[in-house]
Amino acid sequence: MDKLVCPCIYGSVSRYFQKDLKMIDTVVKEKKKEKVVKEKAVIDVSNRLCTGCGICVDVCPTEVLSLVNDNTRVTGVIAYVKNLDACTKCMLCEVQCPDFAIEVN
Ligand code: SF4
Ligand code: SF4
Repeated sequence: MDKLVCPCIYGSVSRYFQKDLKMIDTVVKEKKKEKVVKEKAVIDVSNRLCTGCGICVDVCPTEVLSLVNDNTRVTGVIAYVKNLDACTKCMLCEVQCPDFAIEVN
């Protein structure tokens, strides 16, 4: 027996609609990826201003920052970014730094 084909327009409309949905889904996924990349924090620790007090390391809730030896500092250490991916951009480090030595964007 021959296959019955519905003569109404809905069959083709729904096919197109499904294609559109797939395309929209792909675009949304791409946008989400872009957003994640764009939203990654940029942390700048000033070599000139950082005294190595360690406050930023203590206040960071996700352990993004750490101290590394630096003999040019009075404290013998300087802050550096050890795990950028964990940064939530909470800004605590920037706000708490007494020397305005750290900037988060
Ligand atoms: S709080 Fe500021 S001065 Fe202190 S270690 Fe961190 S960046 Fe350096
Ligand atoms: S912005 Fe928040 S999470 Fe990121 S390094 Fe500073 S204190 Fe840590």
